[in-house]
Amino acid sequence: MPDGPPPLRAPGMSRCWAAGLGVALLAVLPGLPHLPRLAFADDLRLAVRLSPAEARQGGVSVLSVKWSSPIRGLRVRVGDREIPALSPDELTRWVVLIGIDLEQRPGPLAIRAEAVDGSGRPLTGRGTLRVLDGHYPVQRLTVPRPFVELDTASLERVNREKALLDRLWETLTPERFWRDPFRVPLDGAGPAYGFGLRRIINGEPRSPHTGADFAASPGAPVLAANAGIVALVADHFFAGRSVILDHGLGLYTMYFHLQESLVQPGQRVERGQAIARVGSTGRATGPHLHWGGRLYGARIDPQELLKPLPLE
Ligand SMILES: [Zn+2]
Repeated sequence: MPDGPPPLRAPGMSRCWAAGLGVALLAVLPGLPHLPRLAFADDLRLAVRLSPAEARQGGVSVLSVKWSSPIRGLRVRVGDREIPALSPDELTRWVVLIGIDLEQRPGPLAIRAEAVDGSGRPLTGRGTLRVLDGHYPVQRLTVPRPFVELDTASLERVNREKALLDRLWETLTPERFWRDPFRVPLDGAGPAYGFGLRRIINGEPRSPHTGADFAASPGAPVLAANAGIVALVADHFFAGRSVILDHGLGLYTMYFHLQESLVQPGQRVERGQAIARVGSTGRATGPHLHWGGRLYGARIDPQELLKPLPLE
């Protein structure tokens, strides 16, 4: 069910009502290729390492797979999902970014890597990623029904926009556009707030808030968190004016509620380049920047990208 704006806002809570975009994430994931399994009769063990081996809901882990000689056809399965292993820099060592969806159940998540060596022998490696509860806050609101129910035309629009984004998350660019660490998308920004916030409106649980919100003045420049390609410039019901960057390898960052975009779809942008201006368009109760992240469709906390990622 989509969210709508309430007339009241609790102090310190998220100002952003773009959470409706996160509905039914798992419906996206079956679109990824599910390839037939290899035989495991005489498997040889691949060295598999997860960094970190424990990550909270919305977190990111880097899987490193090594073998003494070049391997090919690497497939990585995370739980029951297949994660594409793309663009290896060196065929004896592969790295795969794993995004842990905000609503992934806490507990052990089985990781399985399969490949073949130069003479076609099957290789496998196994690991376990421990998913920790994010302990995200819950916000309970009671608001008049007209504020949370959408009319038919708005509902159709929301569904159309969601379908468009679902297709985008399935689009995997096999090139990594970034080399430097990710950065905060504003200059002089305070701490972000609101990622993972779960709202219960009139007793009904709604989609959690899937971005990190930054307080900012209207018109302040929004900066690309890293190098990438502009995947989408849009004006959506919840998100308002939006820019989405494709950083490659299935990783996207999103910038919502903008006053205006300064870029065009398909344009290549550099880390720190001004791509938009802060606004309060869409379902926002005041000027702020909603910064979101997706990794193979998983709703991740974009602040996780600010940590060093052992990709090299
Ligand atoms: Zn937000």
